Amino acid sequence: MGQTIQLTGEILAQTARRLPGKTAIHDGDRQMTYGALDLAANRVANGLLSAGFGPGSRIGLLSPNTIEFAQVYFGSARAGTLLVTLSTRYTAKELAGVLTRAKIDALFVHPDFMALFNGIDTPLPGLRKVWTLPEIPALPEKAGTTFDSFFDDQSDSPPGVAIDPASAFCMTLTGGTTGIPKGVVVSHRSRALSAASAVEAYGLQENDVTGIVTPMFHIAALFVWFQPAVLAGATMVFMQSWNPHEFADLADRHGITAITTVPTQLNDLISREGIDLGKLGTLRRAIHGGAPMTPDLLDRLTAALPQTEFVDNYGQSEAGPLTALRRHWFPDKLHTVGRPMPGVELAIFDIEGRKLPIGETGEVVTRSPHIMLGYDDNPELTKTVLRGADGWLWTGDIGKLDDDGFLTIVDRSKDIIIVGGENVYPQEVENAVCEHPSVLECAVFGIPDERLGEVPAAHVVLADDTAIDEHDLIEFSATQISRQKRPRKIVFVESLPKTPVGKVKKNELREPYWKDTGRTI
Ligand code: AMP
Repeated sequence: MGQTIQLTGEILAQTARRLPGKTAIHDGDRQMTYGALDLAANRVANGLLSAGFGPGSRIGLLSPNTIEFAQVYFGSARAGTLLVTLSTRYTAKELAGVLTRAKIDALFVHPDFMALFNGIDTPLPGLRKVWTLPEIPALPEKAGTTFDSFFDDQSDSPPGVAIDPASAFCMTLTGGTTGIPKGVVVSHRSRALSAASAVEAYGLQENDVTGIVTPMFHIAALFVWFQPAVLAGATMVFMQSWNPHEFADLADRHGITAITTVPTQLNDLISREGIDLGKLGTLRRAIHGGAPMTPDLLDRLTAALPQTEFVDNYGQSEAGPLTALRRHWFPDKLHTVGRPMPGVELAIFDIEGRKLPIGETGEVVTRSPHIMLGYDDNPELTKTVLRGADGWLWTGDIGKLDDDGFLTIVDRSKDIIIVGGENVYPQEVENAVCEHPSVLECAVFGIPDERLGEVPAAHVVLADDTAIDEHDLIEFSATQISRQKRPRKIVFVESLPKTPVGKVKKNELREPYWKDTGRTI
């Protein structure tokens, strides 16, 4: 206690002092050193302040993973403004809704997304300023140049804004699988501490070359990977959109040693045709999270990439990073998502809020400095997850802890299928269906059933050049799990609908089956 926390802006400054000439970011053919990034962040901060935006202002950022994204991130942190990272997958209507609800004062837009922004046909009265992000040239002598002459003309000295560690730092939007996005607001303090915790839990080092291959507008790439990489002084390789072939080429070119992914991306890497896995020879560690890893995929990954350590990371926007599993240290814990990250407390509660004993299944709750301040402008919603004065955050995930403190995630509470009164967890059924060698991916959800209320159904993507019929796959799954849990219907599909960060949109799958029943799902 009493120790000074190194906040986000200072994390970059310290790495820049230590490693000024080191490449911080490769972004296509462009790159930027830590020294240049540090100065550019000061110019953004000074520009924001001189344009009248400071603590209390809300700055939107609509950009794929680019050098400019990094500059705005650290610039906003130093100016004390609240940065709202916006999904590049929004429609114009969704974007307008978010800009209005989040009360954005000023907005940075990457040129590729100007057309999307210009497609908004409703007034945005609160928005006072829009800056585009022209690309910085690749020339090394221009590496310190920022994206707008307005910012170029600013001082590159630290802006000297005193930042209150408890104040709002960033807002990410979550809820792509359930409907209207919720604004998750986190403090400067929580993100500084979670970055330190991530460096420790993943063993990130200065000599790492890390691939940032999921969108930085989402918590995972931003706080659990990008900011920790800056803290460690690693070199980062940005991808603007995921393509496994391009990733293999980048890994080969830059000697990528570590990545954070969602399981689907790892599946792409080893399943798509024509990828030379020899190009991934330097990949020491692949962290995955955001969605469950199936045992079958893990087996295939370990066989295809024996030099790579696969580290599970469980977390959520509201709670930050929660657990990590370094599998080679704990070969008997492969079914779990690991132990709490440094500084994280976990418990399992029943529906009444009573703490359950070890081994019992209930809702995962957490208490730590990583958790959010709350949902933006929605105290009622905040109270549904931060229910009491005791500081526990209810994650909405169902799980259990073992004697050694390892957590197993059973499912999302809202995804549970109640089959004639018995709880069936879709994830267990998914694992059973995925055991079949012809199955590449599958998603299980509840559909209405006259007798049982609801029953499991599955949408399945088959591997190339394989075939199996619905009946045989249902019978196969019934050899893996109890018959009551087997899917009653299987639909073969080309692909599963996913959020930008790779989570299956189960609401979209469920919707057609339930829409005429008059029941809410
Ligand atoms: P988001 O806030 O969009 O990152 O979503 C967080 C949710 O994704 C969590 O509450 C979990 O339901 C799920 N999730 C995240 N990481 C994992 C993981 N490693 N294994 C299983 N589910 C996960």
